[in-house]
Amino acid sequence: MITAHNPAELAETIRGWKADNKRIGFVPTMGALHDGHLSLMRLAADHADIVVASIFVNPTQFAPHEDFDAYPRDVEGDLTKLSVAGIDLVYLPAEADIYPGGQDSNIKPGPAAEGLESAFRPHFFAGVLDVVQRLFAHVQPDIAVFGEKDYQQYKVIEESISAPPHIIAGPIARDEHGLALSSRNAYLSTEELEIARMLNQIIYKAAFDIQGGADSNAALKEAKDMLLTAGFDKVDYIEQRWGRILAAVWLGKTRLIDNAPIETTL
Ligand code: AMP
Repeated sequence: MITAHNPAELAETIRGWKADNKRIGFVPTMGALHDGHLSLMRLAADHADIVVASIFVNPTQFAPHEDFDAYPRDVEGDLTKLSVAGIDLVYLPAEADIYPGGQDSNIKPGPAAEGLESAFRPHFFAGVLDVVQRLFAHVQPDIAVFGEKDYQQYKVIEESISAPPHIIAGPIARDEHGLALSSRNAYLSTEELEIARMLNQIIYKAAFDIQGGADSNAALKEAKDMLLTAGFDKVDYIEQRWGRILAAVWLGKTRLIDNAPIETTL
């Protein structure tokens, strides 16, 4: 596995692959890798000759009060996982490589960014789009894979990028209790983990009820009450969009998001 620490090192390798007409698949991450990230890399490998992963904890998508400093970082562990997974290249840029002219940007996300996450994290999608566009400019991928775990993020990126790269969505990887894997799960205490595992069950129940003909407002209201009864401290939102139920909740200092499709056929 090649490790590129800056744009110049990356460009040299990318140039060679482009000259050989290799199709480059790309999976951007913020590290603290889990099986969800690795499943996206396998999907990228299905659609490309070369798989490039990046690890960069992007400061511009965190608000000052959010967990940028505390965000889990484990580069050594990540490199082992990527190398075992057969990734061709990992890109580990420094902040100055991504934002050489500073962090100011005038990116305006499109309609998919309206509501949901934006109501609670107003600068989030501008930060995500900025870093994704900069990473794409460095890596020059033919395809890029994003997780359905962050479904609104996937939609915001998909609507803003005109191919290449072609944007592909990867399904949500879950633990044996259905909890969506997330780097932030590392923040949860044992008691919180028990509660966290009810999030997917409650969202899936609402999706199932709506699919079965229940009034969606009533089903979403019931789901919100169930989340609070289960022990979640706050529900930022639980809403229906894109044929899915999407939710963001708080457990102590940890914010969790998840979503479930409302299947049209059983
Ligand atoms: P992150 O490192 O959290 O920024 O995530 C990097 C990519 O992995 C994003 O496209 C996420 O949507 C995706 N991802 C995170 N968790 C999961 C999961 N449990 N299943 C599938 N994809 C995921």
